[in-house]
Amino acid sequence: MKVLGIESSCDETGVAVYDTALPGAAGLRAHAVYSQIALHAEYGGVVPELASRDHVRKLLPLIRQTLAEAGLSTADIDGVAYTAGPGLVGALLVGAGVARSLAWALDVPAIGVHHMEGHLLAPLIEDDAPQPPFVALLVSGGHTQLVAVDAIGRYRLLGETLDDAAGEAFDKTAKLMGLPYPGGPQLAKLAEQGVPGRFKFSRPMTDRPGLDFSFSGLKTQVLLAWRDCDQTEQTRADIARGFEDAVVDTLAIKCGRALDAAGCDTLIVAGGVGANKRLRAKLVEMCEKRGGRACFPRPALCTDNGAMIAFAGALRLVAGQHDDAAIRAVPRWDMAELPAV
Ligand code: ATP
Ligand code: MG
Ligand code: FE
Repeated sequence: MKVLGIESSCDETGVAVYDTALPGAAGLRAHAVYSQIALHAEYGGVVPELASRDHVRKLLPLIRQTLAEAGLSTADIDGVAYTAGPGLVGALLVGAGVARSLAWALDVPAIGVHHMEGHLLAPLIEDDAPQPPFVALLVSGGHTQLVAVDAIGRYRLLGETLDDAAGEAFDKTAKLMGLPYPGGPQLAKLAEQGVPGRFKFSRPMTDRPGLDFSFSGLKTQVLLAWRDCDQTEQTRADIARGFEDAVVDTLAIKCGRALDAAGCDTLIVAGGVGANKRLRAKLVEMCEKRGGRACFPRPALCTDNGAMIAFAGALRLVAGQHDDAAIRAVPRWDMAELPAV
């Protein structure tokens, strides 16, 4: 089954074709992402109305481009998957409207995919993918969650952030040290030049039981350190390194505890912060030590993309699930409500 996937929940337009007849990563026939980062940069954050309008401009050309790269025409498509939520309602409606209309015109089934299920399943696109049960760490711009995955579609929330998401903490911390928008990846890059240990920040909520996170206090610690230092380029890198180490350590400690709680040794990691090199290395080391493994998607499939939506939708479509003719946009949507596959 060849499934066209469409992602438009926030500021990335993503399109992909996943072919379930091909094994593993070969199934991803083509994928393309158009990022609106430049459009929103001057506002320092995503402007919802501008995001919707840009999805309108970019989506159809991106679908044509992706199909051409896959060597396919619309007639080859057997199903359409789109992000139905959670996300910005106007942005979601653009993808949902185009996806549902296309499926209607081609007389193929359509399915609205949960954006976080898309992120969660992204590691399984890669070759040698693990099978559930496993624990998933979702670390994106809007979410930080530990999820026990008993089967595809059966998700139990083990813990989540009480305030800022990990990606949000990276972005806000970068901003307060004067790095350009969006700061997360820039802060990570700067941290590579930083001296480890010169700035030591806390590992929030690791001194007590429980699997929830809190990252907003870390941001305040950085604010004070930055205010009171010489503000040279080297010191900025050293603070960035201290911050990154604090986030990475905190995530790794909680992941270890989540694996203990779930009674398994396989961890899958997804969401934009999953692209962070130091986090990847730390989690691989932590899992190997306990005789398990940590699985990640390639960095381009950590941040928002159409491939994860095509893949998650394909798993459900192949199982015979699909939606009715309605265009679905669900701005708030709990992943625990999803049906099993
Ligand atoms: P959500 O999926 O929760 O709605 P989102 O889609 O905006 O949020 P993603 O696209 O998954 O989030 O990830 C974007 C986030 O990942 C940003 O906050 C960004 O700063 C962060 N990020 C991307 N690359 C890195 C990196 N190398 N190190 C740390 N953070 C990173
Ligand atoms: Mg984004
Ligand atoms: Fe996302």
